[in-house]
Amino acid sequence: MQFNGIKQISEALKSKAISVQELHDFYQAKVEKHAENLNCLINKTPQLAQQQIKQAQSLIDSGSGNLLTGIPLVHKDLFCTKGIKTTCGSRMLENFVAPYDATVVDNLNQAGMVTLAKANMDEFAMGSSNENSYFGAVKNPWDLNRVPGGSSGGSAACVAAGLVPVATGSDTGGSIRQPAALCGITGIKPTYGRNSRYGMVAFASSLDQAGVFARTAEDCALVLSQMCGFDAKDSTSAQVDKEDFSQNLNQSIKGMKIGVVPEWMETLPESIRTQTQQSIDTLKNMGAQLVEIKLPTAHLAVSAYYVIAPAECSSNLSRFDGIRYGHQCDNPKDLNDLYVRSRTEGFGEEVKRRIMVGTWALSAGFYDAYYRKAQKIRRLISEDFARAFALVDVIAAPVSPEVAFEFNAKKDPVSMYQADIYTIPSSLAGLPCMSIPIGLVDKLPVGLQLIGNNLQESKILNMAHQFQQETDFHHLIAEGFAHE
Ligand code: GLN
Repeated sequence: MQFNGIKQISEALKSKAISVQELHDFYQAKVEKHAENLNCLINKTPQLAQQQIKQAQSLIDSGSGNLLTGIPLVHKDLFCTKGIKTTCGSRMLENFVAPYDATVVDNLNQAGMVTLAKANMDEFAMGSSNENSYFGAVKNPWDLNRVPGGSSGGSAACVAAGLVPVATGSDTGGSIRQPAALCGITGIKPTYGRNSRYGMVAFASSLDQAGVFARTAEDCALVLSQMCGFDAKDSTSAQVDKEDFSQNLNQSIKGMKIGVVPEWMETLPESIRTQTQQSIDTLKNMGAQLVEIKLPTAHLAVSAYYVIAPAECSSNLSRFDGIRYGHQCDNPKDLNDLYVRSRTEGFGEEVKRRIMVGTWALSAGFYDAYYRKAQKIRRLISEDFARAFALVDVIAAPVSPEVAFEFNAKKDPVSMYQADIYTIPSSLAGLPCMSIPIGLVDKLPVGLQLIGNNLQESKILNMAHQFQQETDFHHLIAEGFAHE
């Protein structure tokens, strides 16, 4: 069988060329064949899948389904799923079963999508390599000795290996774009507030945002449209109308202005720079106009993020006290012992590091020097982007300064943090941004980042889709994973 995206699968379901069960079995067979080796899943959800298959088939039979009805997917394991474990990649939540569905999950369930599994991830979404998962690192389908990126590495590997057409992810400082780039697929993080964070295990609440992985921009647009919408259960949810992000996909990009940041291009290693420049030139040849822009404070983004995100994490993760949720130590001597040992045993090293850094940055005496200053930088970065978007429609930028790296290559945490230099600025500004595949360097995928102004997801998706009409990079699949 050969499937080319959601529209085509949906037509096959509607015309009864294939049933929802047969479609599921096709992908499930691939899961059985590859998931263990890639370590991309934490829990499979066969009972839920069977239930959803029945619902989806009856929606289709009654003519009331939509394009997503019956389409299989996996959810990053930080989205709460009712009655099913949500571990967040942590020992702390190893046996946590959520009593409700995240709004994002609920929205996709409403459309009749079929959940195959919960995907592996860095613990509490902290990381850029998936090596921080309590359940072991995910392997990159392009080279099993290399990382898939993080923190949504399980979701990205699943889509890249063709185990599912779609996966959900979350992006706080790059966790959708970077693994999408390193695995050679398309991934989008919408504007902060577009998606409800209700039922997403919180890492850094002012940055966390749900998004999608798929092979193409078109599939991302279709799924994202279903995921997003105002939700009264999330006080930071944007009060804007629901939008069909696939509406503008076919518009020409002639005359659109693309901002390029020369400093970012210059700091790239040559092979990745050449590839990135070629993809930007392709957009230019398609009629877009290139404009050099400046983001003068963007170089401070990593420093500011690694104060703000840990500060928020230290506060969010205080709820894991060994009493209300998650892991509890055996035979505590007293209350303090219960707290200390439950948290010491339940959290991994990186999570503990961030809780300590964040608690310290928020403490009296240091707050002004670190947290407040970081917030000021965040504002300056937003203003840089606002000035840039007065001149351009979209910003084209690198995603990652390197291709997928080998396991244990970044033992020093700061070197891991630096992997996020191109993804963090747009995160701090809350902007919609995505990664699209632009070819291989040393047989490993490279991505191009497209950043849009607030609420302009449809513009970056339009540009991405048009690029994918001109190029074939999104069809590249790692050896051994092509559809039979
Ligand atoms: N790599 C970044 C971090 O470790 C981003 C993670 C994310 O977006 N969830 O914080």
